Amino acid sequence: MSAMKLRADRERLLAWYRAAARDLPWRRTRDAYAIWISEAMLQQTRVEAVVDYWTRFLARFPDVRALAAAGEDEVLAAWSGLGYYRRARALRAAAQAIVERHAGRFPDELEAARALPGVGPYTAGAVLSIAYDRPAALVDGNVVRVFARWLGCELEHAAATRWAWERAQELVPEHGAGEWNQALMELGATVCTPREPRCDSCPLRERCIARCSARQAELPRPKPRRAPLDVELEVLLVERGGELLLERRPPSGRMAGLWQLPTRQVSPEPELADLFPPRYALASLAAHGEPLASLRHAITHHRIVLTLRAARAPREKQLEPLAWVPRERLGEFALSGMARKALRAVREAQK
Ligand code: SF4
Repeated sequence: MSAMKLRADRERLLAWYRAAARDLPWRRTRDAYAIWISEAMLQQTRVEAVVDYWTRFLARFPDVRALAAAGEDEVLAAWSGLGYYRRARALRAAAQAIVERHAGRFPDELEAARALPGVGPYTAGAVLSIAYDRPAALVDGNVVRVFARWLGCELEHAAATRWAWERAQELVPEHGAGEWNQALMELGATVCTPREPRCDSCPLRERCIARCSARQAELPRPKPRRAPLDVELEVLLVERGGELLLERRPPSGRMAGLWQLPTRQVSPEPELADLFPPRYALASLAAHGEPLASLRHAITHHRIVLTLRAARAPREKQLEPLAWVPRERLGEFALSGMARKALRAVREAQK
C-alpha cells in the first residue's frame, strides 16, 4: 500500500476511534500507574470483567507506593478471580522496583520499563504511549488480527506476530502514539473481531485486503491447537461448625499460593503432577456419601470434570497445607477460579 493510502487509512481509523471509543475508566486518566494496572488486568481478561476489579484495586492500592508496601496475600486477594496470578505477583514486585529505582514513578524510558518484573513489550508500549505520549509501538492479539487482515499477512502465528511488530514500529506516530495504539486495539476488540467482523462499519474497509478478497475468516492464520487433556478431580467439602477446610497450593508453579477446597486428582495423568500434586494431608481425607455436584472447568488446554464430595475432618494435628477457615472470612483469601466455582456449587447444594 502506498504511503499516501496508508496515511489516509490511518486518519480514518483515528477519526473513527475519536467518535466510537468506549468510555472506559482507565481512559479518563493519564496516570501511568492506573494505566499500567489496567493493562496488566486486561491481558487474558475481558474488559467488562476488568472494570470492577480495576476500580477496587485502585481504591485499595491507590499508587505505586501503596502496592509496593502491601503484603503478597493482600494483593492476591484483590486479584482473586482474575486468573493468571503470576501477573499480580509481578505487579507487586515491579511496584517495589519502581519505588527503589525510580522514586515511585513508572519509568518513561522503554528500556527501564522493560527491565521491571512482568513488564513485556506490550505493557511497556501501552504505558509509555498512553501515559507519556512516547512513540512506543505495541502489539496484542487484536493488533495482529487488524494488521493481518487490513494489510494481508499470510504468515503463521509466531511469524505473523513478529511481522505485526515490524508494522507497528513503522506506523506508530511520533506524537499521539497512545491514541493510535488504542484505536488499533479498539478496532480489533469491537469491529474486526475474530469471528464475523463488522466490515460494513470499519474505517479500513475500502482497502482492507482480507475484505476485498473475502478472506476475513482465513486471516490471521490460526495458531495450531494442542489437543485438550481430560482430567478428573475430586473436590472435598470438609466442614467443622462454621468452618471449612481449605488447601493452600504450593508456593511455586501454576496458581501458586492460592487457596482451594482440598482437591485431588482421580485420573492418573502424569503431565498434571505440577497442577495437582499428590499431597499426604489430602490422602488422609475420607470422602463419604453421594457426590454433591459435578462441575466442568477449563484451565488452558485441560478439560476438567470436578466431582464435589463431602469428607470427614482429618485427625492429624499437622494440617499443612490445609487450614480451617471461618466461612465469613472466605472473602479475605485469594481463591482460585476453580475454588470459587466449587464454593458456588456448595452453596447451591446446601440451599
Ligand atoms: S474491513 Fe473487516 S476485516 Fe478488514 S480490518 Fe475492517 S473489520 Fe477487519
